[in-house]
Amino acid sequence: MLKKRITGRTKAIMPVHYAGGVGNRKEVFELARGYNLRVIEDAAHAFGGYHDGQRIGQDGDIICFSFDGIKTITCGEGGAVLSKDITVIEKIRDLRLLGVVKDSDKRYAGQRSWDFNVEDQGWRYHMSNINASLGRSQLKKIDLFAQKRRSLAKVYMEELRDLPIQLFDFDIDNILPHIFPILVLNQRRDALKEFLAANSVETWMHYKPNHLLSRYKGTNCPNAERFWGEELTLPLHMALSENDIQKVISLIREFLKHS
Ligand SMILES: *Cc1c(COP(=O)(O)O)cnc(C)c1O
Repeated sequence: MLKKRITGRTKAIMPVHYAGGVGNRKEVFELARGYNLRVIEDAAHAFGGYHDGQRIGQDGDIICFSFDGIKTITCGEGGAVLSKDITVIEKIRDLRLLGVVKDSDKRYAGQRSWDFNVEDQGWRYHMSNINASLGRSQLKKIDLFAQKRRSLAKVYMEELRDLPIQLFDFDIDNILPHIFPILVLNQRRDALKEFLAANSVETWMHYKPNHLLSRYKGTNCPNAERFWGEELTLPLHMALSENDIQKVISLIREFLKHS
């Protein structure tokens, strides 16, 4: 599928580590190597997880994390880009500070000067110290977050296994689950969503496919559309107890029995 989309203009492959799992990461890298393409991993959901015994971000080409308000750890707003390629990192350091050449280095060295140069279009994307300090305190709690999210996700995995819905094949012990998506078959997703909402359980859909947005229309992606019609994201966050998860599960059981 991916291979069919590669053209002479393709520069990079950008896999999304959906819900925290890395999917066919190895195959993506093999394909990229064959076509001499870069791989930019959207690891916004995957912070703190592992693949092949390594932390996500430990190897790869360019890896992006998000620390926005709803992510597994948050800075309020912000994120991080990892790469072993120093030219990429130097470029990002400049672009995040309005494209001013080597301004990050100067700030760290305590030197700021009136004279400066801009080589490429940049943005004001640098993180404030206040955001960063929040992130540092969040980082200290990562093991607690991991343990809680894993244990809640495991309850879903075990209790939903025998129901006529489709679960993702997540390796819960290794990933740090960010969301808990399921697929509800036979056009019953919207009805289940409404039933849960009527019982005070909020669910969501992740995500509307890009090609259904005006800006990106013109592509045909039937699998993404099928997914969009079936996917339902169940509650998974730090304020939930195992009891809460059991309540969601019994509501799903009740719905599936009667629909
Ligand atoms: C949150 C998120 C992003 C964007 O993160 P920002 O911090 O807003 O740049 C990108 N991809 C996925 C999958 C996300 O969940």
